[in-house]
Amino acid sequence: MIHTPSITATKYWPGDMGRFSSHAIVFARLIIDDTDNGIQPFMVQLRDLDTWQICRGVKCGDLGPKIGYQFKDNGWCSFDHVRIPRTDMLMGLCEVSKEGEISLKGDPRTLYTVMMCIRMMIVREMPNVFMVAAVRIATRYCCVRRQFKTEQGSADERKVIDYQTTSHTIAKLLSRCMTMSVVGQWTCQEYDRMLNEVLHQRIFTRMDPCHHILSGFKALFSAQALNDIEEARRTCGGAGFQSYSGFTQIFANVSPNPTYEGENTVMLGQASRYLVKQLKKVKDGKQLSFPFTYL
Ligand SMILES: Cc1cc2nc3c(=O)[nH]c(=O)nc-3n(C[C@H](O)[C@H](O)[C@H](O)COP(=O)(O)OP(=O)(O)OC[C@H]3O[C@@H](n4cnc5c(N)ncnc54)[C@H](O)[C@@H]3O)c2cc1C
Repeated sequence: MIHTPSITATKYWPGDMGRFSSHAIVFARLIIDDTDNGIQPFMVQLRDLDTWQICRGVKCGDLGPKIGYQFKDNGWCSFDHVRIPRTDMLMGLCEVSKEGEISLKGDPRTLYTVMMCIRMMIVREMPNVFMVAAVRIATRYCCVRRQFKTEQGSADERKVIDYQTTSHTIAKLLSRCMTMSVVGQWTCQEYDRMLNEVLHQRIFTRMDPCHHILSGFKALFSAQALNDIEEARRTCGGAGFQSYSGFTQIFANVSPNPTYEGENTVMLGQASRYLVKQLKKVKDGKQLSFPFTYL
C-alpha cells in the first residue's frame, strides 16, 4: 500500500510527472507490521494506459509555469492508500518475501550513485554544452561588431574584440570554460572509477571523496556557468538581450542548475564537511591521499 500520510508529504517537482508519465518510481518508507525498514523504491502506476485518466487513489498534476526549463512538465503527486503488487517493489538490493520477511541482497549505498551520476552530468554539461555555446556566440559577435572610429589612420570603426576590455573578458570566459571542461572530464573519470568498484567489486572507499568532489563542483560549476553566460551576453551589448542571440535558451536551461539535484548552499556544506574531516586526520598525523594532499 502506497500512502502519503499528510499534505505536507506531497512530492513536488519530479520531471515528467505533470503530464507525460504513466508510472513513477516512488521512494517511500517500507513499513512492515509497524516496523520501519527505511526508504525503498516502488513502481506505481499513475495514469490509465488507454484513457490517460489518473488512477484511483493517485492525485497528481503539473506545477505550472517556471522561470525557465519549460520543456519539462515538472509535477506534484500524492497517494491515498494505493495498492500495488509486492513484486512492484524494486528488489535488486532489498527483498521482501510473500511472508513479509525482509532480506538484504546488496549494499543500499549503491542507490546513492544515481544522484551522484546526475551531479556528474551537471559538472560535465556546464562547460561543454552551455558555457561553450555562450562564449562561441560572444566571440563571433565581438569579431564582426564594429563600434566607434577609435583607430588612428583608419576610416573603419573598430571591431569590439579589439577593445582591451572586451578581449580580456572573452579570453577570461574562454579559458575558464576550457579549464572547467578539463576538470569536468577528470571528475567524470573519478565517478566512473568509483562506480566500477561499487558495481563489480562492492568496494565503497571512493564514494565519500567522490561525493565531496561532485557536490562541490556541482555548486561551483552551476554558479560559475550562470555568471559567465550573463557576462558573455553583456559583451554582445543590446543584441545579446534579443532572444535571437540564443542566450535566452541557454540561460533558461542553466538557471535551475544551482537549485536542483541539491541546492548549492547545501552542496557546498556537504563538500566542506568532508574537508573538515580530512583536516582532523592531518591533525592526528595521518597521511592524506590525492587529491587531498594539498591540505
Ligand atoms: C527546475 C527544477 C526541476 C526539478 N526536478 C526535480 C526532479 O525531477 N525530481 C525531484 O525529486 N526533484 C526535483 N527538483 C527539486 C529540487 O531537487 C529541490 O527543489 C532542491 O533540492 C531544493 O530543495 P527545496 O526546494 O526543498 O529547497 P529548500 O531545502 O527548502 O531550500 C530553501 C533554502 O533553504 C536553504 N537551506 C535548506 N537546507 C539548508 C541547510 N541544511 N543548510 C543551509 N541552508 C539550507 C537553501 O540553501 C535554500 O536557500 C527540481 C527543482 C527544480 C527547480
